Amino acid sequence: MFRKELFRKVTIVGVGLIGASIGMAMRKKNLAKEIVGVARKDATLEAAKEQGAIHSGTKNIKDALKDAELIILAAPVNAIIEAIPVVNAHGKRGAIVTDVGSTKALIVDQAQKNLHPSFLFVGSHPIAGSEKSGPQAGSADLFVNTTCVMTPTEKTNRLAKEKVKHFWTQLGAHVKFMPPAEHDEVFACISHLPHVMAYSLAKSIPEQYLSYTTQSLRDTTRIAGSDPKMWNDICVSNTKNILKALDEYAKVLGSIRKAIVDADQQGLTDTFTQAKAIRERLEKS
Ligand code: NAP
Repeated sequence: MFRKELFRKVTIVGVGLIGASIGMAMRKKNLAKEIVGVARKDATLEAAKEQGAIHSGTKNIKDALKDAELIILAAPVNAIIEAIPVVNAHGKRGAIVTDVGSTKALIVDQAQKNLHPSFLFVGSHPIAGSEKSGPQAGSADLFVNTTCVMTPTEKTNRLAKEKVKHFWTQLGAHVKFMPPAEHDEVFACISHLPHVMAYSLAKSIPEQYLSYTTQSLRDTTRIAGSDPKMWNDICVSNTKNILKALDEYAKVLGSIRKAIVDADQQGLTDTFTQAKAIRERLEKS
């Protein structure tokens, strides 16, 4: 069993699906005396309060950071990067700082360059969530039995690593460690590429055919319902790896196209059979 850590004040910057879920989970487990949320819109802060994710909310990040013992950056990736120098200037030295951004190398690099070493920073990526966004989609149980990838580096303070691991464990997640660059390479293939594909597939459907929508189109484009700004930020912060994954994908698509042009039924069947086996392995994992 883990010792319960009670924070006097926690600040969550960005109280959408992930940030609000963290607040709800912390309140459910009674892990904080006070949780302050930061967002740009009053409506978001109101909704986060109604969900029970935060005790109070503000649009002023500087005020929110004052005296926080735990600071969680849960806005889109570019906003996380912009918040780092603000945390450095207005956060309490010694505070634990983590983020939940879907890309890690750029965020970790910026945090290591811009945060005073007394801040206990380590990057995180909870593998939980969906195409939904906003605090209304939040859940206190979102992280239960999920994986949270933490991305410490050789510069990471040992205490930061331990405390943030403890934090995610208390929320029900199983923590895995990965270097930031490896994280971005892996997630470009298993998460970022599928989102880019879903957006491109949805965009390619001629308007006049949409009334005939099939279940297969719904299944394959579900994640194109994700927030466009969030995915813009992910694409521009993991460019190299996403381009590599897209190029590999284009090769497979090209070979399927060629097999169709050549009426190569054996080639097509072989490719689809291999792909089906991979899909079946995903179901089991
Ligand atoms: P979301 O539901 O769209 O929420 C984003 C939140 O950030 C909103 O509260 C928004 O406030 C706030 N925000 C945006 N710009 C801001 C700024 N400049 N300053 C302060 N707050 C700002 O997004 P989400 O799904 O929770 O994703 C949040 C982060 O988690 C992203 O970095 C994403 O990559 C990562 N992540 C997402 C998932 C997922 O499945 N969704 C999974 C793992 C990690 P307003 O509403 O007032 O604009």
